[in-house]
Amino acid sequence: MSTVLRVNDLHTTFFTSSGEARAVDGVSFEIHAGETVALVGESGCGKSALGASLMRLVPPPGRIVRGTVQLEERDLLTLDVSAMRDLRGRRIALIPQEPSAALSPTMRVGDQVAEVLRVHGERSTRVAAERAVRMLERVGLADPARVARNFPHQLSGGMRQRVLIAMALLLEPALVIADEPTTALDVTVQKQILDLLTALQSETGTAVLFITHDLALVAQHCSRVMVMYAGQIVEEAPTPALFRAPAHPYTRGLLRSMPRLGGEGSRLAAIPGTVPSPTEWPALCRFRERCAEAVARCDVDPPELLAVADGSAARCHLAELSAV
Ligand code: SF4
Repeated sequence: MSTVLRVNDLHTTFFTSSGEARAVDGVSFEIHAGETVALVGESGCGKSALGASLMRLVPPPGRIVRGTVQLEERDLLTLDVSAMRDLRGRRIALIPQEPSAALSPTMRVGDQVAEVLRVHGERSTRVAAERAVRMLERVGLADPARVARNFPHQLSGGMRQRVLIAMALLLEPALVIADEPTTALDVTVQKQILDLLTALQSETGTAVLFITHDLALVAQHCSRVMVMYAGQIVEEAPTPALFRAPAHPYTRGLLRSMPRLGGEGSRLAAIPGTVPSPTEWPALCRFRERCAEAVARCDVDPPELLAVADGSAARCHLAELSAV
């Protein structure tokens, strides 16, 4: 499989009055054509800042301070503003968390979808409008011509999310970043949306980076998982391996905190403590304060992200010892 995205030593910092928050702190990974890769972790671990960095849409006072983001043949961080704008939508696209905030309330839905085509060179208003309606049909919206004439407030949350998927996949980009795309939806609609995304992805060959805290969805829809904690990737593995034998204590904690069928009445096991502040990441293992499995070396050396099995890596001394 060809590599679509290669991220190397990426650092994104928010320069605030209370200090420099290193939200993304030395992240490296690759995504291959057609893959669905999950990025999981608690709120405040840097997942959305990483997604925004890949799109070069980090809001101020944040800034990408170091690293490379290579999409296909181009390093996105060296492109000028207009070249980057041209790539967004065409080769890399975002499905945001909250469709109401992402759609203009004053524009008809069809015009918003057609706008993607016009921005990328379609001169004919009629052709853009027809393609927009066809795409609305492809994402499973009944009576797409009527939907195209509606304003976003006239659609349900699930329909609005389908519109955003239509906009993201319209030009068949190489990579789609889906940032908690179904958080605001009920479970049934959530499943429909994710099944749709998977089906369209297999038609177009688009790779998907799926940012989520929902491990149940990861198990069903993603082939590989990256676990992010305190601005770093702490574990990376094929999905079955990660669920069968998680190597990092943080990943084990996340899996123990998942609700299970038949577990009614029992309390979920929460990970004690909280994510440290990004203005003061600990110098050693960033999970040390919350880790019940620490070994002597954890209080001496910071762990590196190292291979622990075929296709799997973990940033943990214990995992490294177990792999030997
Ligand atoms: Fe726990 Fe040590 Fe592994 Fe950190 S390096 S997660 S403290 S065992």
